[in-house]
Amino acid sequence: MKWGELREEEFDAAIKESGGLCIMPIGCMEMHGQHLPVATDTMKIEAGLEAAAKIEPVMEFPPFRFGDVQGLVTKKGSIRLTVELEQELLKQLCSEIARNGFKKIMLLNSHGGNKFMLNNFVRSVSYTQKDYVVMTHTTGAKFVQPPNLKKILDEQGREALPELLDEDIEVIEEFVANNRIYGHAGFGETAMIFGCRPDLVRMDRADAVSGLDTHEADYLKPYDDSQRWWGRSFPNSYMGDVPRGCNERFGKLGMRLLVEHLVEMIRVLKYDENMLRWNAERNAARGRY
Ligand SMILES: [Zn+2]
Repeated sequence: MKWGELREEEFDAAIKESGGLCIMPIGCMEMHGQHLPVATDTMKIEAGLEAAAKIEPVMEFPPFRFGDVQGLVTKKGSIRLTVELEQELLKQLCSEIARNGFKKIMLLNSHGGNKFMLNNFVRSVSYTQKDYVVMTHTTGAKFVQPPNLKKILDEQGREALPELLDEDIEVIEEFVANNRIYGHAGFGETAMIFGCRPDLVRMDRADAVSGLDTHEADYLKPYDDSQRWWGRSFPNSYMGDVPRGCNERFGKLGMRLLVEHLVEMIRVLKYDENMLRWNAERNAARGRY
């Protein structure tokens, strides 16, 4: 159920049917090589949530489209807001969601660069008493990365990947055997956009820029966990080998695996009765610590 599509009198029933859980998909606007759209992160998580909510009903909040984009200022299409503004927006949006009666809020993220900002936000929320809880979870393309598919093949057999043809299995075997690299805008994200907006994937542009590490910032990596060096290592906002052989079948598979994960997550969170009780106990005891 989508927040903006409900009429006013439908909200009480929606709160009940959602178990009080409201999920906000979060992405960003930034370059994803020259073969994927700049809103890739929002598209893949919004599509996954929409499909999951059809199986296990939950309130879907409109996506938060402008994430934390630190580097890549020379590239077109990026929208950079300050972390302070993003966190203030999230603070007020969460407060409004809760005022409307949804007391469990999940910030469902699909842009790696948002993790720092979101974890910081969620922790800061609990410094003042609230009658709601905010969580964050980052997921998206990892299920359809070739090493994960290889693991499924080895452990569960060929029939666990019914979406794929034998030629696709060869793509996985070749990718893993050659230790090919996968990451931002690489195999997994390409598959996910094939899964939700195949019309926007331009495989003919997948090798237009390089996704390989410049190694310029290698000496900083062991010491700087902020990953601000990432844009120097991968100046085309593209990390990985060209995703040769990626296609709509991988897209369907990636979307199914993501949706299965999200359905499990929704079931755990919407039927949970501990989180709000623990939050109330914590509020009651707050004077003591
Ligand atoms: Zn991305």
